Amino acid sequence: MSKDSPPESEGRRLRRRDTIALTAIAIAVLLILLFSGAISLPVALTAVGAIAAMSFIYYLLASPASPDSRPAEPDQGENRITANEASTSGAMLENLPFPVLLVGSGGRIERANPAAHEYLGLGSESGLLSASLRQPKVLEAVSSVLRGDGGKIVEYSTFAPIESHVRVHVIPLKSGDNGAFPWRALLVLADETASKRAERMRGDFLANASHELRTPLASLAGFIETLKGHAREDIEARDKFLNIMQDQTERMGRLINDLLSLGRVEMDEHVPPSGDTDLSGMTQDTIDSLTPLAKSKGITIDFEGDAEARVVGDRDQLFEIAQNLIENAIKYSNPNTRIVCDVHANVGREEIDRLTNSLGREAGRLTITSPALTGGRRYAILRVRDAGSGIERRHLPRLTERFYRVDGQKSGPKEGTGLGLAIVKHIISRHRGGFFVESRPGEGTVFSVCIPSQKARPSSGDF
Ligand code: ADP
Repeated sequence: MSKDSPPESEGRRLRRRDTIALTAIAIAVLLILLFSGAISLPVALTAVGAIAAMSFIYYLLASPASPDSRPAEPDQGENRITANEASTSGAMLENLPFPVLLVGSGGRIERANPAAHEYLGLGSESGLLSASLRQPKVLEAVSSVLRGDGGKIVEYSTFAPIESHVRVHVIPLKSGDNGAFPWRALLVLADETASKRAERMRGDFLANASHELRTPLASLAGFIETLKGHAREDIEARDKFLNIMQDQTERMGRLINDLLSLGRVEMDEHVPPSGDTDLSGMTQDTIDSLTPLAKSKGITIDFEGDAEARVVGDRDQLFEIAQNLIENAIKYSNPNTRIVCDVHANVGREEIDRLTNSLGREAGRLTITSPALTGGRRYAILRVRDAGSGIERRHLPRLTERFYRVDGQKSGPKEGTGLGLAIVKHIISRHRGGFFVESRPGEGTVFSVCIPSQKARPSSGDF
């Protein structure tokens, strides 16, 4: 109540001012007429009395206690609040990021917010809902709400030109001023495409993961059966089967390790690392750890570039990046070839462009993750170059998909899991870095990774 009193007393003050002003004008006119001799003193006094009485009556009639007077008053506190509320809800509706529509009798769109205009491609004349949204389930729900039935939630999907999944809330609104058709339908459209897609990806991932694990498991079960049966006494067959079983067990171990690693990386992807790491030193350590594997294929791994390259990063995760890339280079290289790893410290946009375009115009090239190149950000870049089988251009966009493997590629006895590059990509995005691939089939591949040299500043200078 106390909240409402100031505008009311302000209204009274204005009314008093109007009454006094009108009375003063009337009295001034009477005085002029009196002094000019046009009217006599008794007439003037009677007129003043009449004016005072009328002013008093006007003041009383215009007071808030009189309902009839409300429209005449410019400062009705209650009305002003209602108008404010209406304009606030109007503004809220206009700014809602999802489509909202009001559909009246005959299915005509009476009101639509900008998001609805954009989503349904409505012109200035909104027209019939059925002309803009050809979804029988939605139109049916709207018709039944317009007939006075309760609200409904319906879902529909479209697959062309793009896939989309939408949930529509159809809410009945009753308006008193519409005679025989008092019901309107309020439609609120919620785009569920992203969550549906994530749900499907999760399902696909589980299906793929269980399929990948089931294959070696089935093969193990088969060999155990054989060893228990007719191969029990066959020493040669037993050794052969045991070797295969060992390979399959190792493969299952690799799959489980990669799945766990992917889960861990995804879990903290939104928290950028803060450690200080030397990318050069870390790369050289990785090379040392993988040299025995490379030697077994007659492959040499050379390190080139800067002796030190400081980056903001999680050392263990950066080690995982280098390990995956160098291991792939070994797996997909021909025997007796050379792998080169080089690291360059403190590079900017131009150096990154040059270093990630090293195989010439004919090579296939893809930026898998773009680094933020604004604000003068500097990076350290690691490149792993092999002289292996190379990858055809058409496969490049799919390399970081989980379980994706290029058909017909030989990776030797240690068959890949198809998860390595997916892990690398997630680690790079956690580090807010960049990831590039260039390849020439039959000649070789270069994977490049850039990691920020400094922490991102909230306000950065120009590049
Ligand atoms: P995998 O464990 O199968 O190696 P990755 O995710 O690391 O899984 O790689 C995905 C696929 O990309 C590989 O199966 C292989 O077909 C291809 N690939 C990756 N690195 C190279 C490379 N250096 N040379 C050629 N092909 C590669």
